[in-house]
Amino acid sequence: MALIVQKFGGTSVSHLGPIRRVARRVKAELDAGNQVAVVVSAMAGVTDQLVGWTRDMAPNCDTAEYDVVVSSGEQVTSGLVALALQRLGIDARSWLGWQLPVRTSASHARARILEIETGDIRQLMETGGVPVVAGFQGLSPEGRITTVGRGGSDTLAVALAVALEAARCDLYSDVTGIFTADPWIVNNARKLDKITCEEMLELASLGAKVLDPRSVRMALRHRLPIQVLSSFADLPGTLIEGTIITDVWGMPLEDDVEHNMVTGIAYSRDDAKITVVRVPDKPGVAADILAPLSEAGINIDMIVQNVSHDGKATDITFTITREDAERAIDALRKEQDTLEFEKVLSDSNVAKVSVIGVGMQSHAGVAQTMFSALAEQKINIQVISTSEIKISVLIAEEHTERAVRALHAAYRLDEQ
Ligand code: ASP
Ligand code: MG
Repeated sequence: MALIVQKFGGTSVSHLGPIRRVARRVKAELDAGNQVAVVVSAMAGVTDQLVGWTRDMAPNCDTAEYDVVVSSGEQVTSGLVALALQRLGIDARSWLGWQLPVRTSASHARARILEIETGDIRQLMETGGVPVVAGFQGLSPEGRITTVGRGGSDTLAVALAVALEAARCDLYSDVTGIFTADPWIVNNARKLDKITCEEMLELASLGAKVLDPRSVRMALRHRLPIQVLSSFADLPGTLIEGTIITDVWGMPLEDDVEHNMVTGIAYSRDDAKITVVRVPDKPGVAADILAPLSEAGINIDMIVQNVSHDGKATDITFTITREDAERAIDALRKEQDTLEFEKVLSDSNVAKVSVIGVGMQSHAGVAQTMFSALAEQKINIQVISTSEIKISVLIAEEHTERAVRALHAAYRLDEQ
């Protein structure tokens, strides 16, 4: 017998029909002899609508009241799922975040989960019942309703699984698993049976929208296996488990050498490229340029400094999220006189395409394969960044699909 947390996303609870299907899923897990705790999202589209209403009422609204409004979607689905379970003869009961409670920080709209009290739901599970917990929400130290940020039900489910010391957290949505690339772009993309937590973290952070990266980070930290699967198909999903095992020198152990060079391709269109033109070429300027940005709380992703031709001035290019582009330019322009650069350019017509794989630590030629595949497509690489298990390149946005397809083929990801 195992304890499993099942989380159902917005499409899995979008209408009464899918909700009945969810109830049958939960029952199947109980019938298999397991204990189940359920976490639910709001019906698909509902949170967006609630957010819209708060914006229309007051553009920069009181975030405590924002949380009261936007958390309500999960109240509806938690009750409906409990009702659907009761109709199958299961002793089910809903819990809102404040009722458990899910204790969070006070930062409304993006609260951090601190602690989850599980006494009451454990009791119900021990007698064969099923608790249905509203996702996305918690209780602040001041006793007010909080939400944990958009897409935060994944993280809440993982946090609950950790608190319950569950054997696994199953995240249900309308996709059947994690694919080697976006199946909407690459028609022979392959569903992965398994992927390491580290690879999943890179994939999720680099644009694969299936999972909230925060949930993967939490699962990795607590060594909790998670599974991504569809509530609409009776198929096994993708198991996200384990971690890269290395020897004392940091080299991957034998098992991992068998790994493919590359596991998957991700892309994102969320970045903007900023170029600071003709910055004095002397020690310390890169730090000076980035200072106003870090003061403004703007995160920098990729960076290149171009070689200077005359030894006097150089260009520095970096990427940030598109949302931050205007603020970044303002912050830099304010310091233009002290920083002595000529001008700032920004370009949002870019995409970041990344190849990810644990196996790249033990295979030579991964970058070379990537760059030649792109060169063959005559796609220009603007910026490059790497980590131990990923290589990302920035390219013009219009080439995104072509780049993803070319890379998928170059690493033969359609083959098992
Ligand atoms: N309903 C919330 C959202 O749409 C939380 C979630 O589903 O993860 O952001
Ligand atoms: Mg979601």
